Amino acid sequence: MKLHNTLTRKKEDFKPINDGEVRLYSCGPTVYDYMHIGNLRKFTFDDSLRRALSASGYKVKHVMNITDVGHLVSDSDEGEDKLEAGAAREGKSVWEIAKFYADAFKKDMLAMNILPPNGYRSKDDNYARATDFIDPQIAIVKILLDKDFAYQTKEAIYFDVAKLPSYGELTRQRLSDKEVAVRHEVITDKNKRSPQDFGLWFFATGRFINHDMRWMSPWGEGFPGWHLECSAIIHSTLGDPIDIHTGGVDNIGTHHVNEMAQTEAAFGHKLARFWLHSEHLHADDQKMAKSKANFYTLNDLAKKGFQPLALRLLFLQAHYRSQMNFTWDSLKAAAQNLSNMYAWADQIYQPSVSEEITAQDTTHLLELLISAIQDDLNTPVALGVLNRYLIKGRPTAELLDKLDFIFGLGLKSRTDITKIQKQMIADREQARKLERWDEADIIRQKLSGEGLAIDDSPQGPIWHRDHLS
Ligand SMILES: [Zn+2]
Repeated sequence: MKLHNTLTRKKEDFKPINDGEVRLYSCGPTVYDYMHIGNLRKFTFDDSLRRALSASGYKVKHVMNITDVGHLVSDSDEGEDKLEAGAAREGKSVWEIAKFYADAFKKDMLAMNILPPNGYRSKDDNYARATDFIDPQIAIVKILLDKDFAYQTKEAIYFDVAKLPSYGELTRQRLSDKEVAVRHEVITDKNKRSPQDFGLWFFATGRFINHDMRWMSPWGEGFPGWHLECSAIIHSTLGDPIDIHTGGVDNIGTHHVNEMAQTEAAFGHKLARFWLHSEHLHADDQKMAKSKANFYTLNDLAKKGFQPLALRLLFLQAHYRSQMNFTWDSLKAAAQNLSNMYAWADQIYQPSVSEEITAQDTTHLLELLISAIQDDLNTPVALGVLNRYLIKGRPTAELLDKLDFIFGLGLKSRTDITKIQKQMIADREQARKLERWDEADIIRQKLSGEGLAIDDSPQGPIWHRDHLS
């Protein structure tokens, strides 16, 4: 398998450190608001990477964090804590905000058919919350202080970037370049040695005197800096160095550079062998922003009648390393493509309509798909191949299973419905033809109660698991 490594700027042959097993870490969400579709693009990328690795025969151990503390509005330590700001906005406690938006995030993941991480289990779910890893974070701060990679002021404990010669390796940025970049920021703490030194631990004092989330540390009460949690979670769950670390391109310059620095300084080895980054999603030709009308969530899509899996297909139609522009027209085209795939999958119930795809075609199709996704996750090429094979005959349940394993587009759930549900769908079609709308509607509601949503398309009824219900 070949993957593009941000560290080397090259497509490289991927081999895991331990034979047959891949340890994969993905930076997760900061849970202070709903996810916009740009966030969802990144999580869909993580998911397709994981599926591609599994389809290539690797056992994948995947960990993802949930940032529920310490993420300040500016990645370089300035501004308020995003969760505290969310709490003030909604008149709730930070803990309520964290829980509410973590639940909303998990609902989105389910709707997008994104597999939950499997390398860690918390008391609630499979996500590693920053607040569940306070002790491991304090332990790293202690090592960094002992090794003289960190220093303490009245306001915080900082990582001293000048002490680590390899600092900034990921971006190949010299410290002097970065200095220019951060110079415009107002530095609150006058005792910070250099503007790019970053907070490992903030004290509940000064601008954070009223900070709700706080823990005792050997140096005083406070809370961890944002970058620290990923190093601590990786160290405690997967063990470093890991095989692959993922994130969005906006994480490269500060967050990932700082994660790498902490781990290297504390433990004397690299954090990860491969770094993969997914590109931005623009919407209506602009960067998505809360202040603009283009800040779309899954709920906005649902209001216009679009299924989450149509968005998933749209994402897979572009390579993860290319910028993508979301438009309603492009989503509409993806939704049409998805209903074509569903119509093809549904031929499984209409054996008289078409011949079954030959074993030879099936083998060929799967070979082409695997070779496309093994080429740095080339999902657009893979989907092009799949679309060409839709005319080659009726799929088998086994083939749909394999396709779903790779793409996660819900083709398999086409075969998950019972005989009775199939009959109900046919009865509803019949009722519609006879214009007995009430009867059709009652059947639709009944199916919806069983978690099956029905849409009507030019190809006939299409159904999918109603994840949002
Ligand atoms: Zn991270």
